[in-house]
Amino acid sequence: MDIDEARAIERAAELVRQSWKIVVFTGAGVSTESGIPDFRSPGGIWDRYQPVEFGEFVASRKARERYWIRSRETYPTLAQAQPNPAHLAIARLEQMGKLDRVITQNVDGLHQKAGNSPGRVIELHGNTHWVICLNCNHRSPRDRWQPILESGVAVPECPDCGGILKVSTVSFGEAMPEWETREAERCSRGCDLFIAVGSSLVVYPAAQMPAYAAGAGARLIVVNMTPTYIDEHADVVIRQKAGVALAEILKRVEQG
Ligand code: NAD
Repeated sequence: MDIDEARAIERAAELVRQSWKIVVFTGAGVSTESGIPDFRSPGGIWDRYQPVEFGEFVASRKARERYWIRSRETYPTLAQAQPNPAHLAIARLEQMGKLDRVITQNVDGLHQKAGNSPGRVIELHGNTHWVICLNCNHRSPRDRWQPILESGVAVPECPDCGGILKVSTVSFGEAMPEWETREAERCSRGCDLFIAVGSSLVVYPAAQMPAYAAGAGARLIVVNMTPTYIDEHADVVIRQKAGVALAEILKRVEQG
């Protein structure tokens, strides 16, 4: 760690010490150290799979086949992933009584696995551990479908009504969940410190959250390996791995 980075980490620790209503906003970069690739880094998911848009998914069986191939191939990594030091540091903020909400774009459920209360985690893009029927809303655990997909079923159908099944995550072109989006905006506007971690901040409306927070007067910390649009408005920018940076910040906060 060089001197500038050490200073930035110390300044971030100072802001955390002074704050009691923190929102942590996370993107795929918070989970890369758990072995889940992000979308946009080299070797990320988009290097390997074309995204399937929601309209295509509903209209075309061929598109659903592509969707379920990707799901079959990527789900085992998501299911086995364990929280890393970044998730654990965020869970620690809740134990310290400093965390208002985690707002996440991730679908991996690792914040809850790390110990954050489900009620404190707002999942803007859904959760990969559930499958829903677009026709009758039948819900089933994603785990149940893995052996079925591996046995050669290309496109599973709803066991209740025969309708189209989809993993409970938000695809491109699909509506955002209304309550979660409203709640994320409300919490962003109401926090005293907003920490954006591991997000390229290019997917809207999620990427607007730090701007809502900064606009309402919150302090802003950005922890991301690459530049983001909000860096110039941040109090602290840390260009370091989330697990390293957050663990170090929390260590300093706890040392007082
Ligand atoms: P993104 O792929 O657009 O950006 C990830 C950002 O994290 C990049 O800017 C990268 O430089 C940075 N990064 C990568 N590893 C890092 C690390 N160890 N420490 C700090 N920064 C790191 O991801 P996004 O902004 O979340 O948007 C993509 C969408 O993809 C999201 O909406 C999400 O729903 C979905 N997604 C989720 C998962 C998951 O659930 N784990 C994984 C991939 C994609």
